Amino acid sequence: MSRSRTPHRVVVVGSGFGGLFATKALRRADVEVTLLDRTTHHLFQPLLYQVATGILSEGEIAPPTRDILRRQKNARVLLGNVKTIDLQAQTVTSTILDTTTVTPYDSIIVAAGAGQSYFGNDQFAEFAPGMKTIDDALELRGRIFGAYEMAELEADPLELDAWLTFVVVGAGPTGVEMAGQIAELSRRTLKSNFRAIDPSTTRVVLLDAAGAVLSTFGDDLSTHALHELEGMGVEVQLHAKVVDVDAHGIEVEDPDGSRRRLEARTKIWAAGVAASPLGRHLAEQAGAELDRSGRVLVERDLTLPGHPEVFVIGDMMALDGLPGVSPVAIQGAQHAAKQITRRAKGSGEVSRPFRYRDKGSMATISRFRAVASIGRLRLRGFLAWVAWLAVHLIYLTAFKNRFTALMHWAVSFVGRGRSERTATWQQVSARTRLQRLEQGDSGRR
Ligand SMILES: Cc1cc2nc3c(=O)[nH]c(=O)nc-3n(C[C@H](O)[C@H](O)[C@H](O)COP(=O)(O)OP(=O)(O)OC[C@H]3O[C@@H](n4cnc5c(N)ncnc54)[C@H](O)[C@@H]3O)c2cc1C
Repeated sequence: MSRSRTPHRVVVVGSGFGGLFATKALRRADVEVTLLDRTTHHLFQPLLYQVATGILSEGEIAPPTRDILRRQKNARVLLGNVKTIDLQAQTVTSTILDTTTVTPYDSIIVAAGAGQSYFGNDQFAEFAPGMKTIDDALELRGRIFGAYEMAELEADPLELDAWLTFVVVGAGPTGVEMAGQIAELSRRTLKSNFRAIDPSTTRVVLLDAAGAVLSTFGDDLSTHALHELEGMGVEVQLHAKVVDVDAHGIEVEDPDGSRRRLEARTKIWAAGVAASPLGRHLAEQAGAELDRSGRVLVERDLTLPGHPEVFVIGDMMALDGLPGVSPVAIQGAQHAAKQITRRAKGSGEVSRPFRYRDKGSMATISRFRAVASIGRLRLRGFLAWVAWLAVHLIYLTAFKNRFTALMHWAVSFVGRGRSERTATWQQVSARTRLQRLEQGDSGRR
């Protein structure tokens, strides 16, 4: 059989943990990689909450993808929102503004991640932004710091309480981190900043429909985190199901079925994820199944059933109940890249099964306080926080970002300042305005 002179064409969808690590793992392979993403950056999602609470700048956690890959000659980066992946024609169609691009592939790695899920109540998003993108984090930053500005102007005591009440929905790692940071912000950072209000009277409420905080960390660490949060003045309300959200507050249903209202201007949604709709798009063409979060049930080698040329990885894939965390995306990326490299060489058509090595999980509660579960090891307090710091520094992309993040952490954790508190009206209001435009309300009335 004559060998084609054209290199094997690989399309990678997504420049998150899965997409970027897959592209990097293909750097020595005899392939041509096209990395497509609707953003121009690689986002380090685990630190979004630090952008939202004024510790880090967005550039530190979202460096430009094309700069990261500038030395990788076999890779090109294209901006585009992927609309369709045609499994028959083996092409990907993406658009940006008025430009449509069709990119053919021999192999494809789909790593488009997941979005926020409001469990069928998407109308909540306007009043309780989630935390998945840089836009989300900047909007939340504007809402959090803006709430104190409004409180300083408020004469009505009930309204004042509503401005100084922050409700975080979801007591997983992101919710715990957000609640802890807002508590710390109000007790340390904003001290002496205002004249009419006392920010240390801020009420931070962390809600969850389940019965534990950080439930995946096991009983010991979960109870420890709960006590730490309460010690910091965070009100933890468990078995509390959110049934409605509006501009002024949130309605909660307790286990006995009774409903109550919390007046709070600032709500943050840190509960629930839904895989990228590209998962459904692929599954429908291939006759594959999806799980409850819309993740594609992949084969053991991470390919789409019936399509050995299509890998689905990271937050979009469902296999053996693996969680939606960055090590799963990174290891899946490296696995997919290895299979493609072997195929491009023409060596061994039989794909190997993916084996995940669990590296544990960790969550910060506030400065110097964290919990970590690594194998049989359970760490808490300062030691866990140092482990968290080290891991995040290693995985932050680019030396410059690591250096400036370390400087900002010194300012915020050793001192009490936060240098990234800038927020603009556009950041706070753009989502609502854009949604109205999309719904056809052009503001002409
Ligand atoms: C707030 C937060 C905190 C987290 N904390 C931790 C943590 O502490 N530890 C941990 O291990 N994990 C954490 N995670 C989870 C971790 O970030 C994800 O598991 C990981 O990012 C998944 O990688 P991925 O490549 O599948 O998706 P992502 O990293 O989400 O990347 C998806 C990419 O696809 C792009 N994309 C999506 N749709 C399209 C489209 N149609 N066209 C073009 N591009 C598209 C997106 O722009 C994005 O760049 C956290 C997640 C969040 C949101």
